[in-house]
Amino acid sequence: MTSSFKALKIAQEQIADLDLQLLKRTLRITQSPCDTKLTIGGRQLKAFCSNDYLGLANHAELVDALAQGGQQYGVGSGASHLISGHSAAHELLEQKLASFQKKHIQNARALFFSTGYLANLATITGLARLAQRGDLSIYSAKLNHASLIDGVRLAGAQMNATVNLFDHTQLNSLTDVLKKDTKSLKLIVIDGVFSMDGDLAPVKALLQLAEQYDSLLIVDDAHGFGVLGKRGYGILEQASIQSDRIIYIGTLGKAAGVSGAFVCAQNSFIEWLVQKGRPYIYSTATPPAIAHTLLKSLEIIEGDEGTKRRAQLNQLIKIWQDEMIFSEWKKVSSCTPIQPVILGSNASTLLAAKLLDEAGYWIPAIRPPTVAPGSARLRITFSANHSADDLRKLIATLNRIEQEVSEKVMHD
Ligand SMILES: *Cc1c(COP(=O)(O)O)cnc(C)c1O
Repeated sequence: MTSSFKALKIAQEQIADLDLQLLKRTLRITQSPCDTKLTIGGRQLKAFCSNDYLGLANHAELVDALAQGGQQYGVGSGASHLISGHSAAHELLEQKLASFQKKHIQNARALFFSTGYLANLATITGLARLAQRGDLSIYSAKLNHASLIDGVRLAGAQMNATVNLFDHTQLNSLTDVLKKDTKSLKLIVIDGVFSMDGDLAPVKALLQLAEQYDSLLIVDDAHGFGVLGKRGYGILEQASIQSDRIIYIGTLGKAAGVSGAFVCAQNSFIEWLVQKGRPYIYSTATPPAIAHTLLKSLEIIEGDEGTKRRAQLNQLIKIWQDEMIFSEWKKVSSCTPIQPVILGSNASTLLAAKLLDEAGYWIPAIRPPTVAPGSARLRITFSANHSADDLRKLIATLNRIEQEVSEKVMHD
């Protein structure tokens, strides 16, 4: 029996339309743990696409810690944090996360979330409620992550806020708007490391603006936590800045290799989020075994092994910067393990991803709306588990494929 009603027809037509525009996304099923080699459909592929920068997602000590956490705490938390879900493991984890930022945020306290998406929604909408309706301005970088954008949209609608989008490489225009802003509460919202370009936010200059114009500065360091700074504490450590206006957000499913996220700020801001952050209040606490596992991950990040893993990443970044030369494709200036190659059109990016797949690599094509139209790209990411040899082989393959793609696209 086939049924057809309006909503179903629209869904089917829209999906067909996405397919026509080469914008339909597909799920691929991995059959092995996250690492630099992945088994997909029975084939082994070399992966340069995960956010497991330090190579911890399948680290033996973390796998053991998860099993041990399960034995100690069971599998479920059973309730939200404010009911009965806040375990000793969560509490210890929050204290440890706060200690990572204590040099950078006075009286720092951390709050653990099940995902970064949720942390961003809770933080932005929660802090927005420090304002009266209509008395809030939000400044959000144009290339911010979708979860920040959604948080800003929701907070903006809720509080009838003025939302200003700014180019993080052009702070003059941001300054001009801030100068004229008479709202009582201002929030500047920024990615620490831009997830699709790999460049860093000018956090020092933004903090100066926040201080000069009495704003809070929300930094989402999803791709910097664990990677940046001598001890992996993130972008605040790297930039060596300190202020109680900084609201720092880190995720724990990327370099930390596990799952979850946290916000770290001056204690009163965190207490406010506990009271008013709806995504925090109305969501079941993450399994305590995850928090227990994360404690081990943080120990690795700030210890000698973390230092070695960051050094390996830096070696890979240097090799890429020195040895990868494209004739037409565009590299982005990035000093992080995110090294995108911009091809522009969806068709050539899909073709390049397909040729890479045939050559045994998994590097998916990133297309709009994740990136701006006309800037489709291969988002190449490094892991500390990649060797210099792995990277040099990828570089050779990319050079070969660039030629093949330009020949094919010319003949189309
Ligand atoms: C991945 C990411 C998030 C979301 O974090 P999850 O824990 O995956 O939900 C938020 N912000 C940025 C910049 C990200 O890259």
